Formats: sequence, structure tokens, C-alpha cells
Amino acid sequence: MTFAIIVHGGAGEVAPDSLDARKQGCRVAAEAGAVILRRGGSALDAAQASVEVLENNPLFNAGTGSTLNREGRVESDAAIMDGSTLKAGAVAAVSGIRNPIRLARAVMERSPHILLAGEGAHRFAQQHNIETCNPEELVVPEQRSHWEKEHGTVGAVALDAEGRMAAATSTGGIFDKLPGRVGDTPLIGCGTFADTHAAVSCTGSGEDIIRTTLARHAAYLVAQDLDAVTAAKQAIAYFAAHTQGDAGIILKSRKGELGYARNSLYMPVCALGFSEDLILDA
Ligand code: ASP
Repeated sequence: MTFAIIVHGGAGEVAPDSLDARKQGCRVAAEAGAVILRRGGSALDAAQASVEVLENNPLFNAGTGSTLNREGRVESDAAIMDGSTLKAGAVAAVSGIRNPIRLARAVMERSPHILLAGEGAHRFAQQHNIETCNPEELVVPEQRSHWEKEHGTVGAVALDAEGRMAAATSTGGIFDKLPGRVGDTPLIGCGTFADTHAAVSCTGSGEDIIRTTLARHAAYLVAQDLDAVTAAKQAIAYFAAHTQGDAGIILKSRKGELGYARNSLYMPVCALGFSEDLILDA
């Protein structure tokens, strides 16, 4: 069967003793998406499932375990996009949502909009039975003592047996951000993008990813017939040439190729598909 999924666990510096656990977390998440693809499910469901697993893993900066803003609170950003229809859904600066990617999917499917923010997004969650929680439940002790300042956004891109592609990304953003700050993750074409050429998820310095519209840039390179690996590398080279930031990118091309690249120190990645080959990188 033809399918592929690739997930990332965020670009940045990590505490060396958490590296193996992060790689393992990515592997479990990729497997959750692969199970759906193997039984003929959609790229959209697979990408969402992988991201939910990472949101529930306190090691990663998304959902439970998100980084804290300047007021010591979690504010989440997330987006999902279906490449075959260009439908997208996203949430920004929302509090008290256990799985922000679920809420992004609901925005895509149950509202006429693409991006809902803050209090309105929270109310939308309540109206559509998306699990809300006490925002404190998303805070883990490591983030409270903020010994880790690394990124750890999560993302997944998938290709299903029908040739459809999807991208999903979720994050708590950057440490010490101002309340209300929105990063690249929920902005379509910046941290998240999918069309019929490629599906892309980015991580890293959000403001720099926004100014380079990194995900759309990479998808455009694939549309110009670059292979996925070259497109990912060129997109990161463009990013590095125009900003001082660090970033990582994963992408899937319509031909089924997987690509990833980074100029950050680390980015755990796991890919499953086709020959069932597994790529792990940190
Ligand atoms: N890109 C995310 C943001 O700026 C952070 C990250 O990838 O770790 O919100």
C-alpha cells in the first residue's frame, strides 16, 4: 500500500538526556498515523492522530507540556490543512484546550472560517464538544521551573493511499512570549501548508518563519519540480539567508518523497511509509 507519514518534535536545543525519549515519542506518534493510513484512512486523520499523540506527551511543547508565556500561562496555536481541497482550520492564543489540533480540525469542518483566536476559539470548543480543561492541567513541572527553553513544537505531514496530502502543526509557542502573541504555526503558508504538490510543517523561530512564509515557500519549490529533500534544504537555506533564526521543516511531495531539513541544532523526526523504512534524526 502507498502511504507515508513524517512527524517532527520541534527544532531547537534540547537537554541531551531527553533526546532518546523525544525520538521515541516521535516514533510512537508516527505509528499512530501509520495505523490509520494502513487501513485506508485519510492523510488528514493520520496527521491529526500523530499530532494528538505528541500533544499528549508532556515532553513536547504542544498541548500538555506547552511552554509558558510571560504570565506563566499556556496559550496554544495549531493548524491543520487538507492539500486535496485547500481547506484549513487553525486556532491561535487559545487557553484550556487539551488537544488544540482537534479544535483546529473543528474550525475547518464546522465553521466558515480558517482561524479562530483566544476567547472566541475557546467558546467554539465548548459549543462543539471539544475537550476543554483547566489551563493549569497543561502545565508540567519542567515548564514551571523552565529549565528547558528549547522549542518543541510538533507537526506531521501525511500522504494517503488515494494520493491526498495533509499537514498538521501544534505548539505552545515560544517561552516567555507576550500574552496574545501568535506564532507561525496557525498561519497558513507560514508554519503549516498543504496543496496538491506538497504538505509541509515547520518549527523554529516563529517570527522569522512568518516573514519568510516558509511552508508555502517549500511547497512552491516542490511545485517547480524539485525533489522533496532538495526543496526542504533549499527552503531552509533561503530561511537562513534572510533571517537570524533557526528552523526545521518536514515535507511530503506528491511523488511520495519525504524531505526534512533544519538549521537548528536538533529536530527529532520519524518517518514511516512505503517500504516501512524508518528515519530517525535528532
Ligand atoms: N514555531 C513555534 C512558534 O514560534 C515555536 C517552535 O517551533 O518551537 O510559535
